Amino acid sequence: MTKSTHGFSTRAIHDGQPADPLTGAVNVPIYLSSTYQQEEIGKNKGHEYARVTNPTRDALEANLASLEGGTSAHVFGSGMAAIMAMVTMFRSGDHVICGENVYGGTARLFNYIVVNYGIEFTYVDTSDTEAVRRAITPRTKLVHIETPTNPIMTLTDIRAVADICHGNGVELSVDNTFMSPYFQRPIELGADIVMHSTTKFLNGHSDGLGGVLVGTKPKHNEDFAFVQKCTGGILSPFESWLVLRGVKTLAVRMRQHDESGRKIAAYLAQHKKVKKVHYPGLPDHPQHDLAKKQMSGFGSMISFETGSLEKANMLLKSARICTLGESLGGVETLISHPATMTHAAVRTEERARLGITDGLVRLSVGIEDVDDLLADLDQALAKL
Ligand code: PLP
Repeated sequence: MTKSTHGFSTRAIHDGQPADPLTGAVNVPIYLSSTYQQEEIGKNKGHEYARVTNPTRDALEANLASLEGGTSAHVFGSGMAAIMAMVTMFRSGDHVICGENVYGGTARLFNYIVVNYGIEFTYVDTSDTEAVRRAITPRTKLVHIETPTNPIMTLTDIRAVADICHGNGVELSVDNTFMSPYFQRPIELGADIVMHSTTKFLNGHSDGLGGVLVGTKPKHNEDFAFVQKCTGGILSPFESWLVLRGVKTLAVRMRQHDESGRKIAAYLAQHKKVKKVHYPGLPDHPQHDLAKKQMSGFGSMISFETGSLEKANMLLKSARICTLGESLGGVETLISHPATMTHAAVRTEERARLGITDGLVRLSVGIEDVDDLLADLDQALAKL
């Protein structure tokens, strides 16, 4: 894949999707065909069977590889399916270091399914880079991190961890779902693999599931294509097209998410009924300087402490525009309760240790008029 020198928005709109050679359509068509006519044995136009390749999916994969600065991308039916595809890199006896506060579903996959195949996981607070170094063993193959973490918004220094990994022959994968490549490009900071739940900011409209693995080595390209072909957990042509369409507005959406996120975090931080706000854009965030260094915006994921389950519930049910629901990264503002929703699978003591209290509420700030969102939060907080 040749690297484009164009800016982010130009690449988001054009890379991987030249006008259709047959009709001139400026949007890549949704190719709904499970199979392709072959001209003779071993001769085809680049496609044989839709589990292996599909032109709409190819366009999306080229586009996402360009946005993350990787050399390949492979899309799967969900973020979890993408993580499962990455797991196929491991063999029995391998060891993986995982951030201790990754998405609950990732830890559930590792702890309840992948461990049964003889793969060992160590969970580490990767914001402490020396703890990552200490956890590496001769069997360690991968360090998998999220930065910022969900929902406490703790950062990991990607470059520092990448250096430690590479010094020990270990690869680094980064789940970049929260920031999107618009605000954070882990490959430029040394990561080997970037993963996304495209369900979130990339698609951006809460209307499709998907996941992607962006690789940097020929082996990633070969292995992840092979996983698509063997396991079949691919992204459908329609959902590939939805993400392609979503990504075209990623830059403008992210700018608005970030602007509104900053305003709402500042509002919450001065509200007397809010005990603590977790947002990397606030100057009192313990890693505010690192956030400024490795991200070009702070995004719109915020969590804050109401003080109790009762107060959290009152807030959640009083909000009118902020919609109570799982997920994040859509144009609409979603409000949720990590302890009983995203992190319900995490043991109570572990949740307490991570700071995921019963009073914690998470916001994924959308791109509605920010004054309406502020008024909505104001009336809901007044009820506590
Ligand atoms: N990674 C992160 C950071 C997530 O927030 C999620 C889902 O919420 C996933 C991975 C899993 O993605 P999906 O729901 O598309 O399977």
